[in-house]
Amino acid sequence: MELKTFRGGLHPPDNKKWSDKKAIEVCPLAEGDELVIHLSQHIGAPAEACVKKGDLVKKGQVIGTPKGFVSVPIHASTSGEVIAVEPRIASAGTMLPAVVIKADGEDAWDEGLVGGDPDTMTPDEIKDKIKDAGIVGMGGATFPTHVKLSPPEDKKIEYLILNGVECEPYLTADDRLMLEDPESIVEGILILKKVLGVDKAIIGIEANKPDAIETMTNACAGKGVEVGALKVQYPQGAEKQLIFALTGREVPSGGLPMDCGVVVQNVGTAAAVNDAVRKGIPLIERIATVSGAAIAEPKNLKIKIGQPLSKLVEFCGGIKGDLGKVIQGGPMMGMAAVSLDVPATRGTSGVLLFAEDQVLKEPEGPCVRCGNCVRACPAFIMPTEIATMARNSMFDEAEKLNAMDCIECGCCTYICPARIPLIQSLRQAKGAILAKRRKV
Ligand code: SF4
Ligand code: SF4
Repeated sequence: MELKTFRGGLHPPDNKKWSDKKAIEVCPLAEGDELVIHLSQHIGAPAEACVKKGDLVKKGQVIGTPKGFVSVPIHASTSGEVIAVEPRIASAGTMLPAVVIKADGEDAWDEGLVGGDPDTMTPDEIKDKIKDAGIVGMGGATFPTHVKLSPPEDKKIEYLILNGVECEPYLTADDRLMLEDPESIVEGILILKKVLGVDKAIIGIEANKPDAIETMTNACAGKGVEVGALKVQYPQGAEKQLIFALTGREVPSGGLPMDCGVVVQNVGTAAAVNDAVRKGIPLIERIATVSGAAIAEPKNLKIKIGQPLSKLVEFCGGIKGDLGKVIQGGPMMGMAAVSLDVPATRGTSGVLLFAEDQVLKEPEGPCVRCGNCVRACPAFIMPTEIATMARNSMFDEAEKLNAMDCIECGCCTYICPARIPLIQSLRQAKGAILAKRRKV
């Protein structure tokens, strides 16, 4: 069978063998543990704290209310006492508003949480449930799901695509979820299909997960959901590339998936939607892979939002050897974490610990005009030219070279023999262009 794919990209070692056979384990939480729950864990306006120091909260209770349509509420991940409402350090080193809860060890649910029957609910009622549960994209992008499910009326949606690709090296959380809880994913897909009013749903899974392909194919039988096997090629899981591979449709430059009739959701998001709608369970936990050469025992964990990364590492046997770098997410698109004291968030798909000798220390050299970055770029732009413009603050020129089409996949930086951090310049250019557009 010929595997579907996109143009460009590359094939870094996937390093999934360290954790892909490890069943999901629950990362423990003890009485007295502190959870730091940031109020901004999603794309859009931060939530606003609605609890104060000294309040007693239950698991699943709202502790932050959304500010506007592109925003979601934040919930307590366990029961306990609010011991602070104040800025706390986040992964990138910035201080962000947070609610700090000291666990009482009971892990007692808020009894006001109720689910419903999606068969008897209207699409708008379902979307309200999804928003109230704080569901965001679980692949790491953390875009509010209810917003993605609300395209303008003139955008007819024909396809729902489920992202089970997990093309980032090391990460195996979605793979394990598909193997261990395929029913929740399929039930969530059926709910999403109803909201969008679409007939066609396809789950895209890379061919390096044959067990997940088989499991999901069996779970989808007779449910009107297809499974598409995809070539192992990074970034197969990027929205535009996934849409092209599965449907042959192209998202126009500067456009969104809905511009070609598609909505993409992660398989983890589908499972979270099922929990939210049927059981009223908000997004307070997620699956994350803890892996890398500097972790004693790589694992897939069910973690509570707000647990410090150090707890996850401790449960995986601690640090092995000299720790060089910590990444939240995958090695290609994830962000370096300033310390293991920062908390896990709704976007924490992985925590990777790299050894000292794996961290690149050689200085950047001059561009040798090899063209590798251009050939690898799945967005068909010229990374080296745009990076040069960005470094010289020529952001109008960078915009003319379609810098905004960069999906920040990191292929150009990975493949560059001169070790030029091209993606940093691309991000800088995009930030400057967006700032200019907001002023106009
Ligand atoms: S320019 Fe952007 S889209 Fe192209 S390879 Fe680099 S990071 Fe990826
Ligand atoms: S990959 Fe690096 S060295 Fe080669 S053209 Fe691009 S920027 Fe220059």
